[in-house]
Amino acid sequence: MKPKRLNLVVPCFNEEAVLPETIARLLALLDDLVARSLVSADSAMTFVDDGSRDDTWAIIEAGRAGDARVGGIRLSANRGHQHALLAGLLNAPGDVLISLDADLQDDLAAIPKMLEAHQRGAEIVYGVRGRRVHDSLFKRYSAWTYYWLLHRLGVDVVADHADFRLMGRRAIEALSGFTEVNLFLRGIVPLLGFPSEVVTYERNARFAGETKYPLSKMIALAANGVFSFSTVPLQWITVLGFVVALGSVGAGFWALGVRLFTPYALPGWASTVIPMYFLGSVQLLAIGIIGGYVSRIYAETKRRPRFIIEKTL
Ligand code: UDP
Ligand code: MG
Repeated sequence: MKPKRLNLVVPCFNEEAVLPETIARLLALLDDLVARSLVSADSAMTFVDDGSRDDTWAIIEAGRAGDARVGGIRLSANRGHQHALLAGLLNAPGDVLISLDADLQDDLAAIPKMLEAHQRGAEIVYGVRGRRVHDSLFKRYSAWTYYWLLHRLGVDVVADHADFRLMGRRAIEALSGFTEVNLFLRGIVPLLGFPSEVVTYERNARFAGETKYPLSKMIALAANGVFSFSTVPLQWITVLGFVVALGSVGAGFWALGVRLFTPYALPGWASTVIPMYFLGSVQLLAIGIIGGYVSRIYAETKRRPRFIIEKTL
């Protein structure tokens, strides 16, 4: 079988600290893969500069000057990791695309295994994190809880898989049919279908620089995973409404009984104030959940472009 043309897709936001090393390592990796006939000699890489404010783009340009296999796409502004990644996936050439982080946290040793799985017929190969020794305790537990929640909500995601994955050209074509603005790629990819495989790897520590995923961005991504892929929370509101309504009717009968058949019916503070706070909070919760959907419908109906390319290399 003729080796396929690979393109490594790497979103970068203010990654000047790691990028020279990343470019060097990925070029060495390509040499190795070509030598092992796993990929064709015209394989390359695409760095998507997600509107960085540091020297990221200059480093990509210098990389290009040094080796024509280094490609670049510069977005006109910072759109976030998911959009930058999508821009890369939809614009990178090649028969097979592998997306990975710029900070070398995704173990390059998993890439030959992914390519072998693809040769065996997997159109999509998911990189799955084994032990997370380098992640903080908070990150490990919040991730575990989140995957558990998604599973309970009926969202089909591959546990402990982020965006380190191989996708064949057919899968990319299918992905281009998904036009949503509220992107959660790890929820969309399993919806594509196609035969898939999983490759486990050890996640490294970030090579240099700091995380570009502060808690706020992490929460925004997590919310997209829930609201864009599950309507179960809307059903919860209905169930909650029923439960509270039934409880109120029961409490009403109980109060009536106390009033009619006992001498203890005191004008109660608790019986007035507690249900008031309780119902208030239930309503706020319900409005909040509905708001989560409405805000996404709002964004989807505008159909704004998900990324704008300023220039390419
Ligand atoms: N990233 C991006 N745009 C952003 C934030 C992050 O393109 O707005 C890229 C970043 O450069 C890196 C990848 O997304 O290649 C993952 O980010 P990071 O390593 O900071 O996240 P963490 O591993 O800490 O979750
Ligand atoms: Mg990282």
